[in-house]
Amino acid sequence: MNNKGKLFIFSAASGTGKTSLAKALVEHMPDVAFSVSHTTRAPRPGEQHGVHYYFVNQAQFDEMVAADRFLEHAKVFGNSYGTSRAVTENLLRQGKSVIFDIDWQGARAIKEKMPEAVSIFILPPSRAALEARLTGRGQDAPEVIDKRMRAAVSEMSHYKEFDHLVVNDDFNAALADLKAIIRGDGSPRPVQVDMDALLSEA
Ligand code: 5GP
Repeated sequence: MNNKGKLFIFSAASGTGKTSLAKALVEHMPDVAFSVSHTTRAPRPGEQHGVHYYFVNQAQFDEMVAADRFLEHAKVFGNSYGTSRAVTENLLRQGKSVIFDIDWQGARAIKEKMPEAVSIFILPPSRAALEARLTGRGQDAPEVIDKRMRAAVSEMSHYKEFDHLVVNDDFNAALADLKAIIRGDGSPRPVQVDMDALLSEA
């Protein structure tokens, strides 16, 4: 394979299916691994330390920042998140390509340090699809849903900074787009998404 040790950044608004796509990719492509970030947010049900994140407290996180152990770090929704140098270097040493599942701030920082990194922004197919995903099971208060929508619009407003756009209209088609980008043997399907509607105020 000609993709030894490449870096891929995946960003998206939450509710776009980015994490499921990244997980499927890693399962399908043995030479690709997921960079497990550190975070100060509490684990969600089912999340495991060292698998989904390294869960640390703020003091531990701050110590890592002071020791320059992060390639990049950012505050996202009030919690600290960071990509550890050691995690990335270890994967590259094993000859793996690395996927960073990070926000636009992390994407920008990684691109500045490592311009060879390929950045991909994953879009939902429509505003309605995104709203449906963010509304969840209808158990959340309208203010909570509004806040999620505003955060999604804010994340998506950075889509032009990315090398590739992939639309998650159909999981398998989006997965094929991502595989083509990673293998370097194709380009994603053209984006047919109404960006104005997607980015209109929540
Ligand atoms: P969640 O808490 O829902 O897992 O993630 C919230 C956001 O933080 C997502 O957009 C995710 O991609 C981003 N994120 C996760 N890890 C990192 C990281 O190490 N650095 C940055 N900059 N963002 C991250």
